[in-house]
Amino acid sequence: MNYSSGRHFLQIPGPTNVPERILRAIDHPTIDHRSAQFAHLARECLDGLKAIFKTQQPIVIYPASGTGAWEAALVNTLSPGDAVLMYETGHFAATWRKLAEALGLKAQFAADDWRNGVRAEAIEAALAADSGHAIKAVCVVHNETSTGVTSDIAAVRRAIDRTAHPALLMVDTISSLASIDYQADQWGVDVTVAGSQKGLMLPPGLSFNAISEKALAASKSARLPKSYWRWSEMLESNKNGFFPYTPATNLLYGLREAISMLQEEGLEQVFKRHARHAEATRRAVRAWGLELWARNESEYSNSLTAVLMPQGHDERTLRSTVLEKFDMSLGSGLGQIAGRVFRIGHLGHFNDLMLCGTLAGVEMGFAAANIPHHAGGAQSAMSYLVGQQSAQSNKARSTRAA
Ligand SMILES: *Cc1c(COP(=O)(O)O)cnc(C)c1O
Repeated sequence: MNYSSGRHFLQIPGPTNVPERILRAIDHPTIDHRSAQFAHLARECLDGLKAIFKTQQPIVIYPASGTGAWEAALVNTLSPGDAVLMYETGHFAATWRKLAEALGLKAQFAADDWRNGVRAEAIEAALAADSGHAIKAVCVVHNETSTGVTSDIAAVRRAIDRTAHPALLMVDTISSLASIDYQADQWGVDVTVAGSQKGLMLPPGLSFNAISEKALAASKSARLPKSYWRWSEMLESNKNGFFPYTPATNLLYGLREAISMLQEEGLEQVFKRHARHAEATRRAVRAWGLELWARNESEYSNSLTAVLMPQGHDERTLRSTVLEKFDMSLGSGLGQIAGRVFRIGHLGHFNDLMLCGTLAGVEMGFAAANIPHHAGGAQSAMSYLVGQQSAQSNKARSTRAA
């Protein structure tokens, strides 16, 4: 291994850069998870998360990756042979489907070409055709991390409501929570699935279910086998700030710090920052003369950007060049778009100069790997960021003057 000085740029769309404050918070002695001190920590985490999910309802925390929370959502609410309606937004939707089928569920998969979000009309049509109510849940990915496309969950909710179909709504927010506005209660989501290592800025290792009353009611009669993932014991223990098994204590220290940081910046400000960095990135992509993978402007993701490589050039060459020469990790093309698409993560603990470094690294990578492009993408992003900054400070000045 060659020595690399300076900081590695971890610009994959998760795991994301973990801020010093969170690393320092995790770096404390592990405490007795049956102690009053632990219960206090757990309560702060469980209560603090509610504002981030925008829910008044219970949230459970698993010592697991996001995949565990996918499984938990299904096994707690469904029975063997139940039908679930899923939508092919990309690799993660396809992987959740595989998991559902492995559990013995019948997945009805609305096919699409991975370049747009969930079409609410397709959900509405499938539910309208299901007059016997065989479909027990609609499962969709809010921000499809393989494609850089964000779906309109409120529109999915309205589509379900128009059919008056009783199916539960389950949403994967693993790469949107705390980066892109998400409203569990307002949008009538029954189970929200989330993870620690993306917008929440933590290392991998925690995942979450936010649970509606309707989902809780469904869990009373759900017959899929479960033990580790069972909500009832978790919720019972959580009432007093405890867990039915050993929690990831040190990650909870980190979670408490992450919640504080998000509160200090303000969640709406966090969303604005992500939107601004995403727009700057898209301007860079256009200036390079390359194509965004996402088709519809209204669905562009604010947490990552997926870029189509020029014809005849493999993203793997670009990524290995960027890693070798500039010590930056970029996201790969996943599943059926491997080789064709690379992804720039711009979520979590991130600021203007980190973005400029990231985009400069991509642009230098194009040049170093002889990939056809126009120079000046990073410059376009910089101009946009400076324009935005001065627009903001002018506004602040005129507000002060008034
Ligand atoms: C990262 C991600 C996952 C997978 O989560 P793991 O923590 O790797 O299990 C699932 N869905 C989406 C949308 C993701 O971004």
